[in-house]
Amino acid sequence: MANQFTLSQRAQALTSSAIREILKVTERPEVISFAGGLPSPATFPIARMREATDKVFDEAPQAALQYGPTEGYTPLREWIAARHSKGGVTIRPSQVLITTGSQQGLDLLGKVLIDEGSKVLVETPSYLGALQAYSLFRPAFSAMASDEQGLIVESLTGEQLQGARFMYCLPNFQNPTGRRLPLERRQALVKKAREAGVPIVEDDPYGELSYEGEQLPSLLSMDPDNVIYMGSFSKVLAPGLRLGYLIAPEALHGKLVQAKQAADLHTPSFSQRIVYEALQGDFLDRHIPEIRKLYANQCELMLSALDRYFPAEAKWNRPAGGMFIWVTLPEGIDTGELLAKAIEQNVAFVPGAPFFATEPQKNTLRLSFVTVPAEKIEQGMKILGALVTAEVAAKAAATA
Ligand code: PMP
Repeated sequence: MANQFTLSQRAQALTSSAIREILKVTERPEVISFAGGLPSPATFPIARMREATDKVFDEAPQAALQYGPTEGYTPLREWIAARHSKGGVTIRPSQVLITTGSQQGLDLLGKVLIDEGSKVLVETPSYLGALQAYSLFRPAFSAMASDEQGLIVESLTGEQLQGARFMYCLPNFQNPTGRRLPLERRQALVKKAREAGVPIVEDDPYGELSYEGEQLPSLLSMDPDNVIYMGSFSKVLAPGLRLGYLIAPEALHGKLVQAKQAADLHTPSFSQRIVYEALQGDFLDRHIPEIRKLYANQCELMLSALDRYFPAEAKWNRPAGGMFIWVTLPEGIDTGELLAKAIEQNVAFVPGAPFFATEPQKNTLRLSFVTVPAEKIEQGMKILGALVTAEVAAKAAATA
């Protein structure tokens, strides 16, 4: 029926995610998909979750099935505050807000910080899910320049910072590039943001997944009064739990709680209690090294396949953690078109363009190395490498 629903302007502006459309195709079992950002199911701690669920049902079944406070389950908030109280900073449990996935944190921040036309600074490229979440509130995105090490702090001018509601940053193993912001840049960024009076939103679902060496200090630990931190249990336990959190200065926390109350009253009591039980006895500190080991190994396999099968004209990074590798092909190659050809051969990746808030770089693509098992990485990369090699050669012939 025509015109049955008069959609809000906000809804009219909604488009479906390029990644979601691709994922539909890649659900076919014959497709080797480097597209999805899904954690490896081999890392899900099934026995531990079952044990924790039994404990919750034995000890507090009614509370677990009852409504709970919007802010979240208090012991879980205390656990999170304690885990982030390091490097001389104290995070109070009252600063923590449990969210339904950290994706909800993005939505809540959009609701409380963005008016139509508000300036929001984002990295180049940035997490597509954040661009989508913020877009509902119709901000004016301003792209912050980056290089292989991430955000170029020096490129931020007073004019660009002027009047921005916040800057959205992914310092650890960024989605989509896998880049990690070096310590000196973190220090410079925090200082610059503070001096300009621009709050930082630090999105950090991958921080714990560093393959070697020390973790770098969070932006939160450097300036807890000017940083809103987003964490998630999706990549260290399981994403189906839909459990994330925000750590925000108290001045903003109350507003986020009000926005969350309107959105879903609270995150399920049931999953919060189960996760709290599962976390007891330093479980994460025993579990995370296993995820790191698996992912580091798969990352190596993909890097080795890139070295062997991709042409010299292609460039990529060697991530020190996380789930993604970012590939840049010669100018003029459109990875959206390349994807159509790859899917015909049952291989998938994500074209880079949708990750750019302003000017898309169509010659880029994201590869995830965690979901596909080792032998399929080799097989899929061989096919993809041949396709890219042919594409690069065709481009060179056309321009010669
Ligand atoms: N931020 C980033 C950078 C992500 O990559 C993701 C998941 N792909 C999220 C937030 C959302 O994660 P979740 O809602 O599962 O916590």
